[in-house]
Amino acid sequence: MIAALRGDAPAWHSHELEALRESAHRFFAAEFVPNEERWSTAGCVDREVWRQVGAMGFLCAGIPAEHGGGGGSLAHEAMIYEAAAKATTVAFGNIVHSGIVAHYILAYGTPTQQQRWLPRMASGDAVGAVAMTEPGAGSDLKAIGTHAIRDGDGYVINGSKTFITNALYADVLLLVAKTDPAAGAKGISLFLLDLAELPGFRRGRVLDKLGQKTQDTGELFFDGVRASTQDILGGTPGCGFAQLMAQLARERLLIAIEAVAMMERAIELTVAHARDRQVFGQRLLELQNTRFKLAECATRARTVRTFVDQAIGLALQERLDPVTASMAKYWASEQLGWVVDECLQLFGGYGYMTEYPIARLYANARVLRIYGGANEIMKELIARAL
Ligand SMILES: Cc1cc2nc3c(=O)[nH]c(=O)nc-3n(C[C@H](O)[C@H](O)[C@H](O)COP(=O)(O)OP(=O)(O)OC[C@H]3O[C@@H](n4cnc5c(N)ncnc54)[C@H](O)[C@@H]3O)c2cc1C
Repeated sequence: MIAALRGDAPAWHSHELEALRESAHRFFAAEFVPNEERWSTAGCVDREVWRQVGAMGFLCAGIPAEHGGGGGSLAHEAMIYEAAAKATTVAFGNIVHSGIVAHYILAYGTPTQQQRWLPRMASGDAVGAVAMTEPGAGSDLKAIGTHAIRDGDGYVINGSKTFITNALYADVLLLVAKTDPAAGAKGISLFLLDLAELPGFRRGRVLDKLGQKTQDTGELFFDGVRASTQDILGGTPGCGFAQLMAQLARERLLIAIEAVAMMERAIELTVAHARDRQVFGQRLLELQNTRFKLAECATRARTVRTFVDQAIGLALQERLDPVTASMAKYWASEQLGWVVDECLQLFGGYGYMTEYPIARLYANARVLRIYGGANEIMKELIARAL
């Protein structure tokens, strides 16, 4: 890591966290990098990888040990997500699995739901996914069409979801559905579904994406799926919208954490390339344009790093508010877009070749401005607080 990019460590940092980041970095570099081409072609990692990552303690690191997790905090998770983004351009749905789904179950799940899923998610025996987005409703969550209508002692679910991360391998799904379509936000519920035993449920194709090629993003279909009242997260219908709003800040910070790590990686790759590459009889790094561009990239990365580290500190004290989280997601992903584009330019034609990590970083980075709430939605949320 180039010291000037990171600056002083934040107050919450520790030697233990540093050791975790280093060991995760070694693992992802050794186990993910050699498989990237094969996984990109397949559109997914091997299923066994989830258990391998679980055995290393890199799944559910922020879930308490009594639920089978690592017993750490958001800081431990941040080290793992950062290490993955720095060591490889393999996209792997751990942020959705450990950072989002496991935390919904921890925050709202009944003891039975927690015991059933959290230990298996920590080991990688069960993969988690969250399904909000539909073909007709993404940003406007209240417009979803998936219904879970009361029928006897349970519910019947009909609808479809798209762009779902971990769609191919998901064993447990957090599904957003309307249980009372006339009740607006109060009519939305979250179901925690075991996908192995679900007649009427079907997975669609794995979608071919611009980037993040190794991540199984896909469609899910529900055709008369029967669910019980015990399948509602926490057991009480109508709480889904409030639960989503409470957890979205965390999700947005996780995207910011990913963005800043990708930005730092892009700069490190580019500095190394500019040092080696000869142009007009001198190193590319010696040209003033290269030096100025890299100085701008480094300054942007450092300011984003400082802001994101501060937001992590707030989250660790349970003081992260939705507006700060939206600012972090919006700003980090926009700066990532700018930085990775400038870095790619300094690679010339090599930057356009997918065998170069900078090209894959560029493609992987684009979606950070879209998912987890498009940046325009982030700006709406920020503006409302002004
Ligand atoms: C790779 C990938 C992985 C994903 N993983 C998941 C997942 O695991 N689970 C899940 O549920 N979803 C997932 N998504 C979906 C993602 O969260 C949505 O794509 C995103 O929320 C935007 O919704 P949309 O695509 O329907 O776009 P739309 O809602 O149609 O918005 C399109 C554009 O319109 C503009 N816009 C929309 N509303 C406003 C507004 N109010 N003001 C100003 N401009 C606006 C924005 O520019 C926005 O980008 C994933 C998407 C991708 C691409």
